[in-house]
Amino acid sequence: MSYDISEFIRSLYKTKEFIPLHAPTFGEQEKLNVLDTIETTFVSSVGKYVDEFEREIERFTGSPKAVATVNGTAALHTALYMAGVKRNDLVITQALTFVATCNAIHHMGAEPAFVDVSRETLGLCPVALETFLEDNARVEGERCVHKTSGKAIKAVVPMHTFGHPVHLDEIQNICKKWQITLIEDAAESLGSYYKGQHTGTIGEFAALSFNGNKVITTGGGGMVLCASEPDGKRTKHITTTAKVPHPYEFYHDEPGFNYRMPNLNAALGCAQMQRLPVFLEQKRELANQYREFFKGSGYEFIDEPAHGRSNFWLNAILCDDKAARNALLEEQNSAGIMCRPIWQLMHKLPMFAQCLRGDLEVSEDIEARLVNVPSSPI
Ligand SMILES: *Cc1c(COP(=O)(O)O)cnc(C)c1O
Repeated sequence: MSYDISEFIRSLYKTKEFIPLHAPTFGEQEKLNVLDTIETTFVSSVGKYVDEFEREIERFTGSPKAVATVNGTAALHTALYMAGVKRNDLVITQALTFVATCNAIHHMGAEPAFVDVSRETLGLCPVALETFLEDNARVEGERCVHKTSGKAIKAVVPMHTFGHPVHLDEIQNICKKWQITLIEDAAESLGSYYKGQHTGTIGEFAALSFNGNKVITTGGGGMVLCASEPDGKRTKHITTTAKVPHPYEFYHDEPGFNYRMPNLNAALGCAQMQRLPVFLEQKRELANQYREFFKGSGYEFIDEPAHGRSNFWLNAILCDDKAARNALLEEQNSAGIMCRPIWQLMHKLPMFAQCLRGDLEVSEDIEARLVNVPSSPI
């Protein structure tokens, strides 16, 4: 067996053209829905598709209340706001994440603190979380406090990297013990399950994203998942300018966000939801093919953890070292096959360089060696 990666990927996608990392797929229903919003003029903040899309996501995930937003970052910002994160609070997340997780924390005036990821999930490691808390925090009544600064540690935000569910039971138990709210960054994990339960429905709040490169897309879009109906109601209220319903009066009872997803985007989302089960099957089949191909190749295929079912949003492999990673990236990209390294660790970005952090050994190792391979559904 030879390991010509380019040849293999070209055989999967059956094309000699450029192969992107992840491209959206649209059909007739998407066109009809979008056209309908234009023909009825309901492209913006009024229209039936937003409600329909929210109810579809609730049905699919089992979340009691889903609230659509303009993008995933806005959904995260809203989730943190709803969790009561305040200026100068600390929010623990993983160093290995997309920058949006930390940007949302920053937008609250809070500060991220970084812990390591687990080798099995590439997401927040419960052992690293507990170690960080034991070293740095104490519980005072119903609050978790950072010992040296006195700042409140308000939330923990694990992220299900590439759709692989994190160790949610362990993380949730730690959060309970330390009086911290659990918020899931499920932006990458629509269609991923932890012990049979959809990711994003275990934490108090969660955020999904429907950006163009995610499993389904609304152009731009996001969703807040709320564990309780009252929180869901309030989330809707504050994402829609906190307007108190009235036939004509404008009365707003708190400073709200204008984060509502436009009907135009939700129309696309409703059509995409019908295709989601097929996308997930196709992505699983693609992962099976990669798993087989990379067996014995010297590259380690990142598989789903034993405790869950991944949507395999982005497939990934580990190279021997950074030099091998760079060589592979160079080779594939110059062959017209889009492959990408993982994000630079958050504490290496200038705006988060001063943030608290635990030991990040696994994150450093993954950052140096990981390559994402094309993952559009086949
Ligand atoms: C995509 C993504 C988001 C949200 O992105 P938006 O582009 O704002 O929709 C947040 N966190 C992670 C980890 C993501 O991958």
